[in-house]
Amino acid sequence: MIAVFLGPPGSGKGTQAEMMADLYGYTHLSTGRMLRDMKEDNKKLAEVLDSGGLVDDDLVLEILQGHLVKNNLFHNLILDGTPRTVYQYKKLSNWLELRGLSIKHVIYLDVDEDAAISRISYRRHDKISGKIYNLKTNPPPDGVDFSNLVARADQTPEAIKERFIVYRENTFPLIKYLRKRGKLIEIDGTKTIQTVHYKILEKLNEENA
Ligand code: AMP
Repeated sequence: MIAVFLGPPGSGKGTQAEMMADLYGYTHLSTGRMLRDMKEDNKKLAEVLDSGGLVDDDLVLEILQGHLVKNNLFHNLILDGTPRTVYQYKKLSNWLELRGLSIKHVIYLDVDEDAAISRISYRRHDKISGKIYNLKTNPPPDGVDFSNLVARADQTPEAIKERFIVYRENTFPLIKYLRKRGKLIEIDGTKTIQTVHYKILEKLNEENA
């Protein structure tokens, strides 16, 4: 089973992908996280990430596919952040098809821009565990060291604006493409984390019935 999470910045893709992975014991792969881990040694990559722009399609696919091959991660996989353009979707689908695999579910978390921007401003991530929190709606549990909680470099107002421009121009066409083909599981992402989680499980159960 390979599932993909799609949605604008701040839609909760990372949180929901992780919850689903934890529940079923699946592997959660965030290309954003993989790229952020690489940016220390790569100034050009750091500039693209911090400005909110998109990394080159082929480069992201190369990194992702290399990781899947190296770690033999082809089953029970939840992808968060890729594919993000029609080009990436087609290219990744073809690559998987050569291995007798396919993207089974695409879960789209629909959140309007104002709500998403407000969420992003409260978002912090734990630089040690990688866990994502929201200071308002999903605060860290007792025991988490607040000094490890940081805002991402692409959380500046300029970078957020750019991420939404990029989303509208590059990812929205993919959403339309998949919707037209009946391949999209559309979820109202404005509800609470638990409600969205249960909605996703409900829709997946319906699809698998
Ligand atoms: P995310 O954590 O998914 O919001 O991704 C953070 C950043 O990583 C994005 O703003 C992009 O710069 C980069 N990124 C992650 N996945 C991709 C992708 N599939 N294609 C291009 N850039 C990506």
